[in-house]
Order: sequence, then structure tokens, then C-alpha cells
Amino acid sequence: MIIFDNVSKTYGNGVKGLDHINLTIEDGEFVSIIGLSGAGKSTLLRSINRLNDVSEGEITINGLSVTKAGKKELRQIRRKIGLISQNFNLVKRSTVQKNVLSGRLGYYSTLKSIFGLFSKEDYERTNDALERVGLLDKLHTRCDELSGGQQQRVSIARTLVQQADIILADEPVASLDPVTTQKIMKDLQNINQSMGKTVIVNIHSVELARTFSTRIIALKAGKMVFDGKPEELTDQKLIEIYGKVI
Ligand code: ADP
Repeated sequence: MIIFDNVSKTYGNGVKGLDHINLTIEDGEFVSIIGLSGAGKSTLLRSINRLNDVSEGEITINGLSVTKAGKKELRQIRRKIGLISQNFNLVKRSTVQKNVLSGRLGYYSTLKSIFGLFSKEDYERTNDALERVGLLDKLHTRCDELSGGQQQRVSIARTLVQQADIILADEPVASLDPVTTQKIMKDLQNINQSMGKTVIVNIHSVELARTFSTRIIALKAGKMVFDGKPEELTDQKLIEIYGKVI
């Protein structure tokens, strides 16, 4: 369970990225965060694994404070949070296998990581994860030889190998074509439904948010202006969020 308790974030230039957010996300939810550019979606997502610090309030995950965590605790918390981004964040010249294996790095000491000393189980986990996203045949292919959709599936597989309980996806389909977009969203839905992982997605498309999520949260100027089921997102609400029906 992720809890935002009165969380605000003010950037150095005075911009309020988040403005008094109170929010509880239960395990196993598929949450889409929508809103105009600059509404605070990335700020919200990135504060969950403390890629940005908040200015006020507290975020806890299963009772552990993310905001107050020391270095070691933060490392342990982050181990269980996978991150998927628009630009895939892969080492493009490395193989699919190496990129997916890197999901295990949070479990090893720096020294073991440097020498890439992965266990037999890690290699098995890598194969299982790639099979789940339909890419096992690409195990030894370099990532720069893959399509955008395939690269995104490699980054999804990496979060599985990481054994993350929470998957944060920051505009995961922004650079993909419509057909590939559907496939990636279905992969995330499949992981959510069959493995019970919590998925939180920042997304521009209201239609995709409606189709794939169990809950939609809308932000406007750092404030939460909608929190409900997809069917509760009425035209009137859309006008409030976007200034028009989209
Ligand atoms: P979204 O993801 O919805 O597009 P962001 O969370 O990226 O919105 O940004 C929210 C607001 O905070 C915007 O006004 C943006 O310009 C501002 N902002 C984001 N990052 C920074 C930063 N590092 N420094 C200053 N302002 C920032």
C-alpha cells in the first residue's frame, strides 16, 4: 500500500509540482495518472521512489517511510519498485539478456555487480521474464537491433526480474505507434492481473487510461482534481481537467 499524506513539492523556482496530495493506492491496483503537461504527473510518480524529494508531507510504502528513509532503507525500498520510461532506459549496445539481468543489481553488493556475478536462478528468472513478454528468442540480440515496442518489453521484463511489487511507468507508450501501444498496455495489464503487481502509469491518452486502468487520478497544477473509476470520469470532469472534452 502506498500512502501520500499531505504531500507537496515546490521546486526551486517556486513552481508547485504537487499541492497537498492525499492518496492511498492499494496493492494490485492499476492506476492511470492523467492531466495536462506540467500538471505534476511525473513529479508524483518520481516521488514514489524518491527520484525527487518532496517538500512537505510523507509518503509511505507498506508502512515504511520513503521520505524519511536513510540510504540503506531507500535502496531496499527501491528494490521493489520497477521503473519504465518513455525512452526505455536500456544499455542499447548490450544484449537483451544483460539488460534484463541488470534488474537483479539491487540485490548484490557493488563488487559482485561490477563483475556481473549473477546466479543460475537469475538467468532462469531472465528467461521466464522474457518468455512472459514474448521475447525469449531475442535473448542474445543487442537492444539497438530491436523495435521500440520490443525495447519497452525488455524494460518490462527487467522489472519482473527485479521482482518489483510496484511498477511505475512514466509515459511508457509516448513514443510508440498505436498497435504497439496496445500491446505494451496489455502486457502491463497482464502483469497487473496475473501477478498482482501494482501498476501506476502516467499517460496522455484518456482513452488508454479508461481502457486499461482500474482507477484514474487527474492532476491539475499539482492538485488532485479527480480520483475515481474510469466510468466515473464524465465529460464535465474532463472539462475541469483539460478545459475541454477530449
Ligand atoms: P507532467 O509530468 O504532468 O508534465 P511535471 O511533474 O513534469 O508535470 O511538472 C510539474 C510542474 O513542475 C511543471 O510546471 C514543471 O515545469 C515543473 N517542474 C518539473 N520539474 C522541475 C524542475 N526540476 N525544476 C523546476 N520546475 C520543475
